Amino acid sequence: MTGHSDIDIARAATKAPIQQIGASLGIPHEALLPFGHDKAKISAEFIKGLAARPDGRLILVTAINPTPAGEGKTTTTVGLGDGLKAIGKKAAICIREASLGPCFGMKGGAAGGGYAQVVPMEDINLHFTGDFHAITSAHNLLSAMIDNHIYWGNALGIDARRIVWRRVLDMNDRALRDVVTSLGGVANGFPRQTGFDITVASEVMAILCLSTDLADLQRRLGDIIVAYTRDKTAITARDIKADGAMTVLLQQAVQPNLVQTLEQTPAFVHGGPFANIAHGCNSVLATKTALKLADYVVTEAGFGADLGAEKFLNIKCRKAGLSPDCVVLVATIRALKMNGGVTKADLAAEDVDAVHAGCANLARHLENLNAFGVPVVVAINHFDGDSAAEVDAVQTRVTELGGEAILCRHWAEGSAGVTDLASRVAALADGGSANFTPLYPDEMSLLDKIETIAMRIYRADSVVVDDSVRRQLAEWEEAGFGHLPVCMAKTQYSFTTDPTARGAPSGFTLPVREVRLSAGAGFVVVICGDIMTMPGLPRVPAAEAIGLNSDGFIEGLF
Ligand code: ADP
Ligand code: MG
Repeated sequence: MTGHSDIDIARAATKAPIQQIGASLGIPHEALLPFGHDKAKISAEFIKGLAARPDGRLILVTAINPTPAGEGKTTTTVGLGDGLKAIGKKAAICIREASLGPCFGMKGGAAGGGYAQVVPMEDINLHFTGDFHAITSAHNLLSAMIDNHIYWGNALGIDARRIVWRRVLDMNDRALRDVVTSLGGVANGFPRQTGFDITVASEVMAILCLSTDLADLQRRLGDIIVAYTRDKTAITARDIKADGAMTVLLQQAVQPNLVQTLEQTPAFVHGGPFANIAHGCNSVLATKTALKLADYVVTEAGFGADLGAEKFLNIKCRKAGLSPDCVVLVATIRALKMNGGVTKADLAAEDVDAVHAGCANLARHLENLNAFGVPVVVAINHFDGDSAAEVDAVQTRVTELGGEAILCRHWAEGSAGVTDLASRVAALADGGSANFTPLYPDEMSLLDKIETIAMRIYRADSVVVDDSVRRQLAEWEEAGFGHLPVCMAKTQYSFTTDPTARGAPSGFTLPVREVRLSAGAGFVVVICGDIMTMPGLPRVPAAEAIGLNSDGFIEGLF
């Protein structure tokens, strides 16, 4: 059934009390910290007690290179969770929390769509349980303590020109990208140029998502490099003595949030690191907790498989000791057509040749994912208007490649439209054929890690790296950071750094512009092309259409 907006469908949902959702996973009432009737945090104490239990199966949902036509990873993650429940499995899903920036900017929610959504979608898309507030506060406490340290005599000898810690806000606000602080005289400190990033780009967010418990959280927060001295010695958050208070601010936020899908499947919605300068998937704590409580856990990684799945596998899984049992590669006919050269305006017309051409993109992702040693199944997320011939072209091509592509209608039909995929995923995950291996070992040099990803995943011929970047990488290796994984930052629209190069380009080089050390999160960010850490609002922001109606209900939120 179609024709209803996401918010209408979400509002009509029959929600179970959150205690009932918790009970379906065996979580006792006292281990749930409820926020209203339909949201709860799961207590850290309870989570600690789960350590000895066996893990369920981990299923990753990723996609071909995104296009403005839309792929539907979150929608498919939710739908697959419901589908697994519908075929009698004990399933849970794990997704990221929403940022207010995109919510009021470009129209588009973070809670799935159609009949595959998590609820309460208004709360999830707005303040939810306050985690982003806590992260923003912890980040800005550190910022305030750095300037305060300098104000009161700068005992650590911080070079004010070499402060790398900025401030954050959960809003798209280009006016704050570059600012001068401490204007106004002696009492206000020493003026310096700095700026704001969006909260989801904060290293504190990445740390919250990679921490395994409170002690690990505090250690990582302490390791954050905030500035350098004149002789380039690193100053950490621990040196500023901020790590303890930051941990206090995050004590509640680090506990995973539990909600439900439209079909009352348990859903962990926790953490929301940017998929470009961070690793782009929900928290390790939520995923690990879900694995202890459910037999099948479906989770999503941001962007296409070249970025999202690569970082999920090489950063999150490696660091957390997770090992996926099955990967679902989402494709839409529309996105395949765009990868095959069709413009957005012409998407409505049937074009089997373009679908076929676009399958080159799908084929490369399939080959890449297979190389990680995990079984892969392709999910065709059906849109109204896809023709049978177009769907057939994808299925035929994927079969030729030795894979399997399953048509799914969860957006329109909920779990009833996705049981084929659910059965296949359960069989693959149970089949025991997964033998996950990260792409590169910890011991490999940082530059070799970058080259390995560029050549094996993107299929670049070579990597172009300035001498200054090479020197920087060598200095970090010298300082003991050489074992860290690399966190690639690149356009999500292409295997290359050119967002217009769709399909499966070859014969290109990958230019590395800049590298940044996230010592607390535990990765080296490798920036290829432009990177946005504070987005702006579009000409007509979604906020203009959002408001309360006369019944007090929110309108315009998708
Ligand atoms: P992703 O996680 O890949 O960014 P989402 O699942 O959030 O994508 O979906 C993006 C948008 O596309 C949402 O507004 C969703 O409602 C819509 N969408 C997803 N699948 C379909 C579909 N099959 N038909 C129509 N709209 C869809
Ligand atoms: Mg998503």
